[in-house]
Amino acid sequence: MNVEIRELTEKSARLVISGVTPPLVNAIRRTLLSDVPKMAIEDVEFHMGSIMDEEGNEYESAAPLFDEIIAHRLGLIPIPTDLERFLPRDKCTCGGEGCPNCTIIYSLNKRGPCTVYSGDLEPVGDKTLAVKDDLIPIVKLNKDQALLIYAIAELGTGRRHAKWQVCSAVGYKYYPRVTVDADKCTLCGDCVSLCPPKILEVKGKSLKVTEPEACTLCNSCVEVCPKDAIKVEGDDSRFILKFETDGSLSAAEAFRKALEILEESYEDFRTSLADIES
Ligand SMILES: [Zn+2]
Repeated sequence: MNVEIRELTEKSARLVISGVTPPLVNAIRRTLLSDVPKMAIEDVEFHMGSIMDEEGNEYESAAPLFDEIIAHRLGLIPIPTDLERFLPRDKCTCGGEGCPNCTIIYSLNKRGPCTVYSGDLEPVGDKTLAVKDDLIPIVKLNKDQALLIYAIAELGTGRRHAKWQVCSAVGYKYYPRVTVDADKCTLCGDCVSLCPPKILEVKGKSLKVTEPEACTLCNSCVEVCPKDAIKVEGDDSRFILKFETDGSLSAAEAFRKALEILEESYEDFRTSLADIES
């Protein structure tokens, strides 16, 4: 398997993967969606009763949204994840009770009138674990309303709940191969105007494919060509894979982790097979 990077930003990637089969590239897609772990808020504790501020003003522990909705919204906030540092809670030495090796505790203390944002979550202890996307609105508090919350984040995967899904918009296509038969092509230009990604161009006395990788394999050019001069094929051993992350992991980290997980799964499968045979 060979991977060429076409585009790589903190939160997105476009890669050309060659020397693989369609089932393998699909396994990478599914692993990116369901098996790459990340931290997300799972437990939320709401302070009940009145809340006093430093000046002695009294607020009601209330918000226009139900606590369940607020907890759900908190769960969807991307939490910065260091996979080297955190263990799944059920596999931690604390026995699942929660400790700095498997959980991050955030506190939120806001008094209305105001809008509560994701950035109002403050990590208890290590400040480097602060939420990076700090302008996600959670709820608007009215006058005399306040929220005092403790939220606990833990590792999980998209298989359990979508809030632990690191990657979104994961898709791949067969690597396009567009060939033009210069003997048959009359340079009529019908295909040029019809091509949705506009990658065909009549240049001098020939029809050129300007950006073959942008081809969507829609075959519009093949269908409109009166002379059968264009052929569009997808290479089933080479693929263009695109995906985005929510920011909890970088695109490079998510891809690396997905390959690591796949490798482990194949190894497990091999061992299980060997056990059956012996
Ligand atoms: Zn623990």
